[in-house]
Amino acid sequence: MSNNHVEVHEANGAAFRYAPDHFFKSQPSASYIANEEQYRQMYDQSINDPETFYGNLAKEYLHWDKPFAKVKSGSLEKGDIAWFLQGELNACYNCVDRHAFANPNKVALISEPDEESEAYSITFQELLEKVCKVAGVLQSWGVKKGDTVAVYLPMTPEAVIAMLAIARIGAVHSVVFAGFSAGSLKDRVVDAGCKVVITCDEAKRGGKTINTKKIVDEGLNGVQSVSHILVFKRTGNPAVNMTPGRDFYWDEACAHQRSYIPCVSTNAEDPLFLLYTSGSTGQPKGVVHTVGGYLLNSALSTRFVFDLHPEDVFFTAGDVGWITGHTYALYGPLSLGTATIIFESTPAYPDYGRYWRIVSKWKATHFYVAPTAMRLIKKVGEQEIDKYDISSLRVLGSVGEPIQPDLWEWYNEKIGHNNCCIVDTYWQTESGAHLITPLAGVFPTKAGAASLPFFGIAPAIIDPNTGKELEGNDVSGVLAVKSTWPSMARSVFNDHQRYIDTYLKPFAGYYFTGDNAARDNDGYYWIRGRADDVVNVSGHRLSTNEIETVLDEHDGVSECACIGVNDDLTGQAVIAFLSLKEGACDISDEHVFMGFKKSLVMEVRGSIGPFASPKAIIVVDDLPKTRSGKIMRRVLRKIASNEAEQIGDLSTMANAECIPRILSAVDNQF
Ligand code: ATP
Ligand code: MG
Repeated sequence: MSNNHVEVHEANGAAFRYAPDHFFKSQPSASYIANEEQYRQMYDQSINDPETFYGNLAKEYLHWDKPFAKVKSGSLEKGDIAWFLQGELNACYNCVDRHAFANPNKVALISEPDEESEAYSITFQELLEKVCKVAGVLQSWGVKKGDTVAVYLPMTPEAVIAMLAIARIGAVHSVVFAGFSAGSLKDRVVDAGCKVVITCDEAKRGGKTINTKKIVDEGLNGVQSVSHILVFKRTGNPAVNMTPGRDFYWDEACAHQRSYIPCVSTNAEDPLFLLYTSGSTGQPKGVVHTVGGYLLNSALSTRFVFDLHPEDVFFTAGDVGWITGHTYALYGPLSLGTATIIFESTPAYPDYGRYWRIVSKWKATHFYVAPTAMRLIKKVGEQEIDKYDISSLRVLGSVGEPIQPDLWEWYNEKIGHNNCCIVDTYWQTESGAHLITPLAGVFPTKAGAASLPFFGIAPAIIDPNTGKELEGNDVSGVLAVKSTWPSMARSVFNDHQRYIDTYLKPFAGYYFTGDNAARDNDGYYWIRGRADDVVNVSGHRLSTNEIETVLDEHDGVSECACIGVNDDLTGQAVIAFLSLKEGACDISDEHVFMGFKKSLVMEVRGSIGPFASPKAIIVVDDLPKTRSGKIMRRVLRKIASNEAEQIGDLSTMANAECIPRILSAVDNQF
């Protein structure tokens, strides 16, 4: 393949990168959307005539047991949004049965367990049988439509099977990321009133064994609502505790079940699942998604954003414990009848070649990962990439945090070999599917920009001080959406008022994303971090993300996070926390370190202005992160403001052990 990226023109200092016409000529099938003009036509219809647009696509993409009577109703003012009213369908039928009937031997799931040599795949027919058996077990335990079942499993096919089995009988899944502690599991099981928990005996990750069932037992101690626990034998350790009458092994329970049971029809507006947000900005919210709209947008975004074809192999490296795993490891690819890779391990196990061996072994066409994983590979694993043939890749996705332009370029060159489309997909747990994103190969993209809105999304940039929408291009502010879309969250579980207060009240008539964004002079959107992460230095208001972007481009910097602290002189001042690339700078040599810091400050002064210069640059070995890999700036803000005792909810933090080290780094600084 030749290099297909042509620089079209410069805008806002960022070159358009263009996937030209010949891109898809070398692909197995034609692109689903021919060109930018077709995107614009479809987009306009999705906004101006959603009834026709979504009415047609819902019939084309989903199987309905009973047709819907009305495409949409409700408003952002009232928070009573509903889609596909009176329609009935089953999510599992749409993801499994219809493909098993049409193509029983087609691969549905590819399992890449922790132990590399034990990889395998299962077909749609096999998936159907496995799902039915678990669904039968749940029914035999009295689980009915509308009941909530918790899934606390690592990234194994069983997690997907469990979710689909729950959906098959019309119940509601609540997946709890298997890295959460007993206490966090308990909070979520109690909040959702789960009747059953599906888990495993032990988990394997990066060669280590995790005593999952023990954590579950601890978490469920005293929890009355749970009558049964289904335990998948991941390791088969006979020493694992099983409580008679409550705990049953997966294989033994399934042995008594039929390999086909029918699906239970659900209303389009029945809940499909609840899922907690990552907890980057505060206490996680239990977001509720409904069957019809969620499933449709999962299918549409997977199809159009990734240009996913039935013969493709999709590799989402994220966990089903997060929304990316729900929509793009499970519901999106499977609703389209496409194979999806379920990866249990880490990018570093047994070495940094793991992702690329998976791509080359299964000829993955799509790879979707968070910037944090790419930064890790760029920092320590780059030498592994070229050892593998990853030329099957066609589309590379990024999700979870803003991707810095230089990391985008690196992704494009090192992984994509300038032959792939890069899609920087901006969205949230609450949006269910992409909000602002390139469509692979359809329109030009810019390094670091989420680019243009997905169908049905009418973005608005709002001035946070006046609450007024900013019209036209070249504007920045907070990002809201002034349309409703099929997969938007309908509620916060058991707390509809929190839903209204968090998303709909801040700006009446808009859905508030909680993020900052800019619309450049081409109408492209740039996500600029969280609305909370804004500093006001001597009257200059700027997103800390802009400063981070400059610092991240410095050769020595591996990761960075900037926050604002109060300052007597300037109102607020910027503090930068950095982790460095190996060998970047000897920080024990004060002279060298001073020079290094000075070079960073000069970069910021030159790129943004002297007012944006960090007042302090603090080097740490690790930044605080959520379990989904996002930097927790709120933790840094509390530490730097001497308010560590009010640090807030840390249940979603992955690396709490770094806090004392950051505290002492801050103490040494001031
Ligand atoms: P909480 O809502 O509990 O604070 P969270 O917002 O991190 O946690 P998620 O729903 O997992 O929970 O993450 C969504 C957020 O991630 C978005 O609001 C945005 O801030 C960020 N994000 C996701 N994708 C992108 C992207 N491509 N570019 C920039 N930011 C992104
Ligand atoms: Mg959020």
